[in-house]
Amino acid sequence: MRYISTRGQAPVLSFEEAMLTGLARDGGLYLPETIPQMSTADIAALEGVSYEEAAFRVMRPFIGDTFTDEEFHGIIARAYAGFGHVARAPLKQLESGHFLLELFHGPTLAFKDFAMQLIGQLFEAALKRNGQRVCIVGATSGDTGSAAIEAFRGLDAVDVFILFPQGRVSEVQRRQMTTPAESNVHALAIEGHFDDAQARVKDMFNDFEFRDAVGLAGVNSINWARVLAQVVYYFTSAVSLGAPHRKVSFTVPTGNFGDIFAGYIARRMGLPIDRLVVATNQNDILHRCLSAGEYRPDGVIPSISPSMDIQVSSNFERALFYAYGQDGGAVAQLMDELKAGGFKVSQGALEALREAFDSGRCDEDETSATIRRVHAATGELLCPHSAVGVKVADEMRVPGTPMITLATAHPAKFPAAVEAASGVHPPLPERMSDLYERSERVTGVANDLGAIETLIKERTGH
Ligand SMILES: *Cc1c(COP(=O)(O)O)cnc(C)c1O
Repeated sequence: MRYISTRGQAPVLSFEEAMLTGLARDGGLYLPETIPQMSTADIAALEGVSYEEAAFRVMRPFIGDTFTDEEFHGIIARAYAGFGHVARAPLKQLESGHFLLELFHGPTLAFKDFAMQLIGQLFEAALKRNGQRVCIVGATSGDTGSAAIEAFRGLDAVDVFILFPQGRVSEVQRRQMTTPAESNVHALAIEGHFDDAQARVKDMFNDFEFRDAVGLAGVNSINWARVLAQVVYYFTSAVSLGAPHRKVSFTVPTGNFGDIFAGYIARRMGLPIDRLVVATNQNDILHRCLSAGEYRPDGVIPSISPSMDIQVSSNFERALFYAYGQDGGAVAQLMDELKAGGFKVSQGALEALREAFDSGRCDEDETSATIRRVHAATGELLCPHSAVGVKVADEMRVPGTPMITLATAHPAKFPAAVEAASGVHPPLPERMSDLYERSERVTGVANDLGAIETLIKERTGH
């Protein structure tokens, strides 16, 4: 299995190389050259197997000869051993025809643990074998950073630096990043928004001298291995509702487009998905783009679903690559236009995108109202991101096709918003109940590439 860049200029890589590199050297994102197919029989055979076994069967064709079957089984087993639910991604009925896929039973209570725990184990196995050491640098709107730190803390071959926008993550998210005591963990609070943090990370990857000097590796949602890990639960949940013999739809609370893009890959592998619905909060650039064909960032407005407060949605580039018939030159040009303010999607590409995705938006009042309504009607407490999904799913649902909404975080990760909406304080699970007592360690940094690079070099002895 070989991996190509969405911008068509970077070298073709193996799974291992693409995983360790993250962002391609032409600024693009890696994708498999061809998408492996699962037959109806392959999909039907997933019924009743463990999450780990399903993960093995769905991901195996993508990893080529990077790991033996035995190694890969071990990696998956270690990745999901720390989850607080045996099903890993349990499906819960919310209302008639509407299901919640609970993706928040991992160590940091958000779906990003599915990808990050796997990546931690994949990196460890590959780096140990190669005698390599890397420096992981990531930007986070809250959940990626804590998931990365949780996945890499204490590993020998890895330093992990996470940039988060100062004052714009929830207290639980911040504490999950600042309380680990391991010396290879570095939480950096940057002055600015998530998009600033993400832009500085991209700049570091494009500074090849720095990138090579410190052995930079990326685990943001641009990393192909993360998308791949997320493909699995589309299969397990659809199969538990009758796939491949019946179609299901998904609604996905979306920011960086990684989670929903994994659903798109699942469909292209053969999973009979009817509708894939992008749900955005008031930062609705993706909804506007899919509606009007124009992608033009106009500033982030902080919301109560902060992990979706995004205007530059990195993984959307992967969807554009397919919408433009895998034309890397066309994607590179769009991304140049984006630097200058925005771009218009061609008519043909817009039709392709609309064929693949529906979209909807949920504002702040609607988010709170949904938390309140669902709690009153079902007793279920939704986190604000999941509430955005449920609201949009309710608008898109059609009788006869089950709708699965991805519940992306545990309500206790966003206690203020949940309590304000429902009047109920969501408690942390027992295993994390001392989080508010642990001491914090964090370094403030300016939104300045040179200063951040210097700090990273000092901390890693380069
Ligand atoms: C990251 C995140 C999202 C958005 O996922 P993307 O893959 O970036 O689209 C939604 N909800 C929560 C809780 C998240 O942490």
